[in-house]
Amino acid sequence: MWMLVPVAFALKLLSIFLQPLGSVWSSLGPLFLQLRAASWLAGGERSRLLQSRREAGEPSRAEGEGGGDLPTTPTSVNYHFTRQCNYKCGFCFHTAKTSFVLPLEEAKRGLLMLKEAGMEKINFSGGEPFLQDRGEYLGRLVKFCKQELQLPSVSIVSNGSLIRESWFQKYGEYLDILAISCDSFDEQVNVLIGRGQGKKNHVENLQKLRTWCKEYRVAFKINSVINRFNVDEDMKEQINALNPVRWKVFQCLIIEGENSGEDALREAERFVISDEEFEAFLDRHKDVSCLVPESNQKMRDSYLILDEYMRFLNCRNGRKDPSKSILDVGVEEAIKFSGFDEKMFLKRGGKYVWSKADLKLDCLRIFVPPSVGIRAPVT
Ligand code: SF4
Repeated sequence: MWMLVPVAFALKLLSIFLQPLGSVWSSLGPLFLQLRAASWLAGGERSRLLQSRREAGEPSRAEGEGGGDLPTTPTSVNYHFTRQCNYKCGFCFHTAKTSFVLPLEEAKRGLLMLKEAGMEKINFSGGEPFLQDRGEYLGRLVKFCKQELQLPSVSIVSNGSLIRESWFQKYGEYLDILAISCDSFDEQVNVLIGRGQGKKNHVENLQKLRTWCKEYRVAFKINSVINRFNVDEDMKEQINALNPVRWKVFQCLIIEGENSGEDALREAERFVISDEEFEAFLDRHKDVSCLVPESNQKMRDSYLILDEYMRFLNCRNGRKDPSKSILDVGVEEAIKFSGFDEKMFLKRGGKYVWSKADLKLDCLRIFVPPSVGIRAPVT
């Protein structure tokens, strides 16, 4: 069919030149319409092709990632909409370099663009995402993504210190997963790491959040960064008692300009552990069924990270190099510079059961009394 379009076009053009000038304009109108229809059909064909290849599980590629004409699909996006935080973790790799947060409507516009480009899962992160407007900004984005964009999965990563029960009452129904960062069940270690604020006890707070997640039917997840201060800890008992749907275990990561180097706000070198030490930690916890390990290599190129300006951050060279904002150039153009490796994303199990509608809700029912398995805080 596509071969016929240029032939028909050439014949039509020839006939126009053979006509008197007055009738040229009446001939051009239908011709333009014909061209427009052809390009629309071609566009439709392309998006159908993309869709069928995606459905077949074929990964798309960012530019320079071994060819292929498919644009990268932003299936799962991590939107770090703020860099501000109330904690001071010594290894933090998304530090408070700006205080910028997009106006709510602009953030929604960007999220809609991502959805149109194929996003299925959004994760809101920071900084501390509950800091902005006392959690209202975050709540509205969560509600927008679930109610209006109908995303299968909406999740948050938070240090948990600023979450109130009233937030769950208002927005809990729109949230699939809440991940809380917890690196140690020894409060003294948390203080050493910088995960703490005054007299608030990070571990006790974790238990309270677990209870609310169960009550408001939000899947509960724990993220831990393994570093010099917790690498010898045995967390089996406490993690099993809390029974998260996933326990993501990261190896402490150095990012130039964030937690290392002259213009960085942190010096994380003293937190770094070797690959062997990380493996030993994983080995100690190999019987914890919800454990999902994440080495440095996996972390660098298997996440799609959007910063506070909605720019993709490319972490491949050990720094965070930003693309242009999707709000200025669109998703397809910006994502070429994301450094994202979709194959690695699939390999690390990035696509899992991530909607609470599909999760076995057993995990939401199990609840452990507050005192069980938690080491007493050191005062
Ligand atoms: S809680 Fe997270 S964002 Fe805040 S300082 Fe710690 S690592 Fe950084």
